[in-house]
Amino acid sequence: MYSKTIDFSKFSSIKVGVPIEVLMIECGDELPKDRMIIGHANNLLVSSTPPPLMMLSKDFSFMELEDEVLTVGCATPTGKLLSFAKKHDLAGFEFISKLPGSIGGMLAMNAGVKSYEIFNILDAIKIDGLWVDKKEIEHGYRVAKLGGVATEVRFNVTRGFSTKLLDELVALRANQPKTASAGSAFKNPEGDYAGRLIEEVGLKGVSKGAMQWSEVHANFLVNHGGGTFEEATYLIDLAKDKIFEKFGVVLKEEVQIL
Ligand SMILES: Cc1cc2nc3c(=O)[nH]c(=O)nc-3n(C[C@H](O)[C@H](O)[C@H](O)COP(=O)(O)OP(=O)(O)OC[C@H]3O[C@@H](n4cnc5c(N)ncnc54)[C@H](O)[C@@H]3O)c2cc1C
Repeated sequence: MYSKTIDFSKFSSIKVGVPIEVLMIECGDELPKDRMIIGHANNLLVSSTPPPLMMLSKDFSFMELEDEVLTVGCATPTGKLLSFAKKHDLAGFEFISKLPGSIGGMLAMNAGVKSYEIFNILDAIKIDGLWVDKKEIEHGYRVAKLGGVATEVRFNVTRGFSTKLLDELVALRANQPKTASAGSAFKNPEGDYAGRLIEEVGLKGVSKGAMQWSEVHANFLVNHGGGTFEEATYLIDLAKDKIFEKFGVVLKEEVQIL
């Protein structure tokens, strides 16, 4: 293992943060128990005082297909897995398109689009060095209780990558902002949409410094350049308060605040 200074104002997708020392885990290292694992920071809002962090190094970026079993390392970027699935005609991976991050982050978030989620297609995850069957891992909408560090995931694959489905899912993204963000800020509450509630309380387009509830899609907290952690959390708290006041709904963050 080795240390690396990562500037989260450049590395994270929302472009908020400061340079922080991160421990890089290499193949064969014993996993430290006192550090939080991060992926590629597409779902993170990192303060200047996060808990001690670690990240999987490139040793964990690989894909192996043998006898219709695909094994993927958890540092693999999602885009690489999508290209691999396309090239080898593997069914079920289409939804990964435009879903930025690492495979480890996808697993921990049970990331997905509409009814397509990573847990629907996987079979087992290697957590803290041991293979765990999917049915033993509690998971739901944008959450999976991995209980440790995922280093590899296994899929039993079938052939038939659908470019038609891929195109349909890409088209769904047309209403999402191109400005820097961490994706959806809040999870959708049961039977409703966080974006709709943010609009209803008049916050769509509202800014604090360089951060803004996007004019394109209200549930995206966007950074127009140089936005700070404090500005971001101000807007998140404001939305939660106003929505609770007006609708009695407690919104839960999808973006993880460290
Ligand atoms: C423009 C944009 C659009 C997006 N659209 C979607 C969408 O449609 N659907 C969706 O679900 N998400 C979406 N996201 C969010 C993001 O793409 C996913 O949450 C992604 O899976 C995060 O991966 P990451 O590697 O960046 O994880 P990080 O953001 O670094 O971490 C997320 C969580 O995963 C945990 N984690 C990371 N690696 C591991 C590991 N190896 N073992 C155990 N835990 C780990 C971290 O502790 C953290 O809790 C979007 C983000 C952006 C910027």
